Amino acid sequence: MTIFTKIAKGEIPSWKVAENDSFYAFLDINPLAPGHTLVIPKNVEDDYIFHLDEETYAGLWAFARKVALAIKAAVPCKRVGVAVLGMEVPHTHIHLVPLQTEGDLDFRKEHPVIAPERQAAIAAAILAEYEKL
Ligand code: AMP
Repeated sequence: MTIFTKIAKGEIPSWKVAENDSFYAFLDINPLAPGHTLVIPKNVEDDYIFHLDEETYAGLWAFARKVALAIKAAVPCKRVGVAVLGMEVPHTHIHLVPLQTEGDLDFRKEHPVIAPERQAAIAAAILAEYEKL
């Protein structure tokens, strides 16, 4: 079982920002910016997004779109950027990153330190916006 499956099952804690039957979204533990979110399928552990079946692939992006709208409503930013890497965790995930500049999507830059209490507050704010959609 991957670490992200354990997160989706609640066996490992996460700052949840959205969830439905098939997909789960939570804050990245080492964020590029406040509100940096990961979106995953709950029941598919394939490590390469383009290996997903069409239904799961389309559903993942549709869910990510709603999560991005919620992030934009909750976190001050110009727009929400998207990245798919998968170099580290072998469980398909989409990164959603609130952007002020294009440099905010540079994974090699120094990551800001965000206190756990602030991460919790950001996650709660995004979840509240998601539930309005
Ligand atoms: P990548 O697989 O290259 O897309 O990177 C994996 C991402 O998952 C990185 O941004 C990590 O900070 C993030 N990550 C790893 N473990 C956790 C965790 N337990 N909770 C939240 N994010 C995580």
